[in-house]
Amino acid sequence: MSHRLLPGLARATGAAAFVIALAAAPPGPALAFTGDNHEDITRAALPWEPVTLSAMAGARDGAVNANDHGGYFALGPLHCDNADYLAPRYVQHYPRSRDEATTELLACIRTSVARFRNAVRAADGLVDADGKVRADQSDLSSPCTWKEAPDRAKCDVLEQLGRGWHQIEDFYSHSNWSDQAAPGPVSLTDPPGLARTDVAPFLDIRRYSAMDDADWTRDARARIPADLTTGCYSDFDSTGVKAEDCAGRVTHNQGLNKDTPASPRSRTGDNFGHAVSGATAEIARQWNDFKAELLSAYPDHRRGERMICALVHDDPGSSCT
Ligand SMILES: [Zn+2]
Repeated sequence: MSHRLLPGLARATGAAAFVIALAAAPPGPALAFTGDNHEDITRAALPWEPVTLSAMAGARDGAVNANDHGGYFALGPLHCDNADYLAPRYVQHYPRSRDEATTELLACIRTSVARFRNAVRAADGLVDADGKVRADQSDLSSPCTWKEAPDRAKCDVLEQLGRGWHQIEDFYSHSNWSDQAAPGPVSLTDPPGLARTDVAPFLDIRRYSAMDDADWTRDARARIPADLTTGCYSDFDSTGVKAEDCAGRVTHNQGLNKDTPASPRSRTGDNFGHAVSGATAEIARQWNDFKAELLSAYPDHRRGERMICALVHDDPGSSCT
């Protein structure tokens, strides 16, 4: 599910990683694997018509994968990285505190909250003041480009949603929320698993989007389990400092990621399957919450209802009259 499995190896620097990537799979297909997992999850979660669904989910060109391209790829909070922590009962001097780990996770959640608010605003352009769908603003006959530049309203909404959902999908692959540890002692390469089967209560993006930063972060902090951890990755953490030194820490590559069925952590139980089903249930929740927000934010002339119609249909001009 993301960016870091086989794709992670492909993007990792150093000859050793490259050799491993070659040994694991042919380089071409390997690059597509993680995007493929994001695609499968996103498709399973959304009851959308095909052209629109492909625009969102596409393994290479979908909005949900836009955070894995360009400079976005190196920004840890866009992948819920670096929220790593092990309690003193497991390791005497873990290099990071619980609070530092939580701060990184909050930075990840914050990116989704911001995208949610942007998406609600962008949806305003889908429907005119009288509640009529603007067909030209929903036309996907030429592809959206995900460049964060104003485009057709539907492209803008899909981009904001996709860039807000990517890290939420990553969370289930990159954290120990839904997985379990291998038998044996807890270690940096085998941290405890929380084996949770519910969607994470601190990813309540819609509710948080209506709160100010101090309030929702207080709420989220209280809901983050003490043993929750994601993996250290050599990207930029929320301070903007490159976190190259993952020594002595739970890492993405050797520790937690379940980006593919071949990832080390995927070999225990059905960890990969749990990551996929957790992420799928989560995106279904996020979409339902976004719909609820549109209905509540745009009640006049059934505008919110029409916005939803314009989002899920490939030809809203004829489907949403
Ligand atoms: Zn990612």
